[in-house]
Amino acid sequence: MKSKILTFAVLAFSLNVSAQNYSVSSPNGNLKLNLNCDNGQAFYSVQFNGNTFIEKSQLGLVTDLDDYSVDLVSNGFETDLKSFSYDSKVLKKSHVDVVANNAVWHFYKHDRPAFDIIFMVENNDIAFKYKVYSQPNPLTPTEPRVCTVVKNEKSYFNFPKETTTFLSTQMKGGTGWGRTAPSYETPYTVDAKPGFNADGAGFIFPALFKVQNGWVLISETGVSSSYCASHISNEGDTKYKVAFPLDADYNYNGTSCPGIPLPGETPWRTITVGENLKPIVETTIAWDFVEPLYSPSKEYTYGPGTWSWIIGMDESVNYSEQKKYLDFTADLGFVSQIVDNWWDTQIGRDSIEMLAKYAKQKGTSLVLWYNSNGYWNDAPQGPKHIMSNSIKRHKEMAWMKSIGIRGIKVDFLGSDKQQTMQLYEDILCDANEYGLEVIFHGATLPRGWEIMYPNFIACEAVQASENLHFSDDFCRQEAYNATLHPVIRNSVASMDYGGVTFNDYFNISNDTTIWGGHRVTSDVFQMAIAVLFQCPLNHTALYYNQLRKDEPWKLDFVKKCPTLWNDIKFIDGYPGKYLIMARRSGDKWYVVAINADNQPLKKNINLDFISGDITIYSDDANLKGSVKYIKSNKKNIYQINVPKNGATIFVGNNI
Ligand code: CA
Repeated sequence: MKSKILTFAVLAFSLNVSAQNYSVSSPNGNLKLNLNCDNGQAFYSVQFNGNTFIEKSQLGLVTDLDDYSVDLVSNGFETDLKSFSYDSKVLKKSHVDVVANNAVWHFYKHDRPAFDIIFMVENNDIAFKYKVYSQPNPLTPTEPRVCTVVKNEKSYFNFPKETTTFLSTQMKGGTGWGRTAPSYETPYTVDAKPGFNADGAGFIFPALFKVQNGWVLISETGVSSSYCASHISNEGDTKYKVAFPLDADYNYNGTSCPGIPLPGETPWRTITVGENLKPIVETTIAWDFVEPLYSPSKEYTYGPGTWSWIIGMDESVNYSEQKKYLDFTADLGFVSQIVDNWWDTQIGRDSIEMLAKYAKQKGTSLVLWYNSNGYWNDAPQGPKHIMSNSIKRHKEMAWMKSIGIRGIKVDFLGSDKQQTMQLYEDILCDANEYGLEVIFHGATLPRGWEIMYPNFIACEAVQASENLHFSDDFCRQEAYNATLHPVIRNSVASMDYGGVTFNDYFNISNDTTIWGGHRVTSDVFQMAIAVLFQCPLNHTALYYNQLRKDEPWKLDFVKKCPTLWNDIKFIDGYPGKYLIMARRSGDKWYVVAINADNQPLKKNINLDFISGDITIYSDDANLKGSVKYIKSNKKNIYQINVPKNGATIFVGNNI
């Protein structure tokens, strides 16, 4: 639960009021936002430590009231310093101190207030949004227009020429399994030249760019039913622009352009910059300026869980298998178990009630899968047509509450349109009434939702572990992808990936007799995933029948690994090659290093934030894992040698 204490202070800001040019610096002065209004158009640029990270880029909106990207008159500029703190159990940091220079830039058109652009400038982050004012109605001049449709947002991100990109393409609506795309499940290309929109639909948030002197992550946050979710499209060379959902989203249901009441606001667009990746991995910009939209109906709890479907697929969704899994989930001390698709026909409601009762006896709980549809996709999996309808949803959720279900996993939402954002919000808000936690799969990127919706857990919104089952090729990419996600996707939102397994093959026989991708990463790498990928209720792909009982330290690690974290540290890394980072839970730091490169990762790393007894899990050159226990050394320098697809983990006490 986020609670904020706001304090306001008088700001000593660098205001340059000449020819409608302004600049706002970050509280420490390193980040500088330059603003100017030229020939009736609004522009910004971003400098960090004197170097240009974003070149002169246009700002503005086109609504059905007027074109607010041309013929603008800049009409004043105000700033103040915002300083506050907030706490949350479910983010990468449990306590966040925010200090930001807040600037509001006013624009007139036709001698009337038209809109403001509101900026928040932190030391490594900028957030901005538009606030649009009501206008006289040309047809009935005495009655103002109090709502509008935003037809186009002209927020550009123009990068310097030598920039390379780390992007994932937006999927086209009407494609994919049962026409459920877009679901944020395309691979990232790394260090790619900026260029045309590969799939015609642009690129998803968050989007990472490498500029000459550092890195830029752009994203958006604060998206609720009050707007659509956006993405970026390439507008030639190194120019990118905020883009709305395509018509084909949601299989042509709903509108692409969002509507807002007047006065009304857009979501925040965010820019995070750093000379290295530390500010990007550690950023909290996704949550700093959003607020809870309702109060939690109870104290929600978190922890690790199991998910039989990744290994056992649809065949594992039956009563006896789920009961066996409950024994396993309880033995692990895990708090939750997902019962995936088809439970309505393959298990049935009476048996679900028996399983829920059994789970309770065992001290654990169930999460039930639902199809989101509805008239917007063809995915055949049941239960269908319940989460799509308010009346049926309430009845179902009351039943779930009565039998002690922990939460729901709703799949196949497939759209960024405002109508779909409304569905997400309605499901979340209703679920809270019945004390249910919510996970979304086949879904959009959560944009500030951990704070906005107190019972929200995570979205998939990534090429997740199901692909390890489906594809050997994806298995070979597992380490490569793991070097990307904490830097890009998982940096701005919790991620339900469904990783961590000790199976060699992603199937129940754990061999080649039936299909299931062949794992190439080490067991220590799998343990590292439990630290690297952040999700407060983390359903793993562990399988009860294939545990390596000869090496209990592996399972012991997974049993004890926290899912709630207090702090995060980026240490070193390059997306697509390797990553070294740490998370702290209570007084314990978990430092993980993974390697996707052909060469072993040999480094001396400084761990001056841990002391005392240290446990080290590591791989030899053949990916055979071992554990050893050492005392921290005086210099705090530790040598690592991580083979491709392997990992090293240090667990030690906070100094
Ligand atoms: Ca999926």
